[in-house]
Amino acid sequence: MKTEAQRMGVLARLRAVAHATRPYDPEFAEAMERRWATLPDIVKTPGQIIGQHGVGCEGTHGVFPKCDLKCTPCYHSRDANQVRVDGTHTREQVAAQMGLLRTLRGPRAHTQLIGGEVSLLPPDEHAATLQIMRDHGREPMSFTHGDFDYGYLERLALGGDGGRRLGRLSFAAHFDRFMYGRRGIERPSSEQALNPYREAFTHMFAKLRRQHGVRYFLAHNMTVTPGNLDEIAGVIRDCRTMGFGMFSFQPAAFLGDERRWKERYREATPDAVWAEIGRGAGRPLGYHVFQNGDVRCNRTAYGFYVGDRWHPFLEDDDPRDLAVRDAFFRHFGKMSFTGTRPALLAARLSRVIARHPGTVVTATRWLLRTLRRVGPVRVLRHRFRVRPVTFVMHQFMDADVVAPAWEMMQRGEKAQDPELLETQERLAACHYAMAHPEDGTLVPACVQHAVLDPAENAQLRTLLPLIETRPGQSAAPRHGGDVRRTPHGAGEAHP
Ligand code: SF4
Repeated sequence: MKTEAQRMGVLARLRAVAHATRPYDPEFAEAMERRWATLPDIVKTPGQIIGQHGVGCEGTHGVFPKCDLKCTPCYHSRDANQVRVDGTHTREQVAAQMGLLRTLRGPRAHTQLIGGEVSLLPPDEHAATLQIMRDHGREPMSFTHGDFDYGYLERLALGGDGGRRLGRLSFAAHFDRFMYGRRGIERPSSEQALNPYREAFTHMFAKLRRQHGVRYFLAHNMTVTPGNLDEIAGVIRDCRTMGFGMFSFQPAAFLGDERRWKERYREATPDAVWAEIGRGAGRPLGYHVFQNGDVRCNRTAYGFYVGDRWHPFLEDDDPRDLAVRDAFFRHFGKMSFTGTRPALLAARLSRVIARHPGTVVTATRWLLRTLRRVGPVRVLRHRFRVRPVTFVMHQFMDADVVAPAWEMMQRGEKAQDPELLETQERLAACHYAMAHPEDGTLVPACVQHAVLDPAENAQLRTLLPLIETRPGQSAAPRHGGDVRRTPHGAGEAHP
């Protein structure tokens, strides 16, 4: 016979399990509802992800603006490289920014640890910062040029005692031929010439997983100008098996340090860039199935490779697939997938399915349809190896339209000029927010770079000056301590 106390204990445990496996967090759902309510009508489409399955992306600012490569263009202001990389400052600022994001945008989001070059942070500071982001419910992604060694990565993931302190890492690596100063290839002659460096970067993560069981997600970022537009397809084809889960392309904008504006960037139009991405993927890409904010800012195609062929998860011209999307948003939209342990995710999914058994039929039909499209023989030949890969294009706006459009928005004015009106619509639907704890506001990243960065970096330059030991030389460690890079060209991970 169970005692009363035992019965209460069992009940308490059952309640705890029920709570842990509830399909969604009501606070997250409320945050999405608030976000949806503030979106301009023009972007409230059936495929809109903001407000239906997330609140959009976030990024840090004013934390480590310095970089040791030179990009053309560079979105940081001209003072950025005069600011010392400082771990304490980074941790404090990131904690404050994450606190505001947590308050205003709810308990979960994807957030980029972005500034100048993240690997200039000593590994312990980098790891501590990632932990701060996770503690605020953020799934962090570190932004890098990728020119660091395996030793840095190992120290980041393991810490001083050799024990694993980070079970999962996400990095976005920026590679393009208009970045100068990479070890071993100071001035790349082509995108193809960079491929061994791209591969070496991904190999480091594969090795980390093999040796220490650290899981990872890697995105490949590339700025597109008229000078490398026709190399996009080759990059995708050459790098699709390297281990990147995302290929993101940014048509260059006139933003940031004007000394680094080198070409007639607007000749690489969004349609031209997207067509090249499709050429690389081997088929035209629809970008209306799912939408992140305004499609004039972001185009996204979610899908997977089987062998060398890419397929979208959902075809944008098949109403049955669009119905799958709608059902997904309706029944699973409020669930958080990233960062949820598989067993917990399975339990949550089961509860939704139990309540809506029709979802199993919808999912099975979609699965069979997709299998037919890919070809069962092909799937068998590749032993069911499916590699999810997302294609993204993010088009920043030019500073000369962002500044006046934002100024008018601050005064509550709607622009009459069509270009400024478009800018205002895009800013209002922004998918990529940055937090200002000093005044409790969020701003679009375009506004951060076009309007706020110059004054912010000028202040940081005073707050965190480079320490001159003799004219022209800095006493601050050049590479965030002694483990980021081995001497020039000797990096284990480098070709
Ligand atoms: S940062 Fe600018 S380009 Fe990017 S989503 Fe926001 S408004 Fe659009």
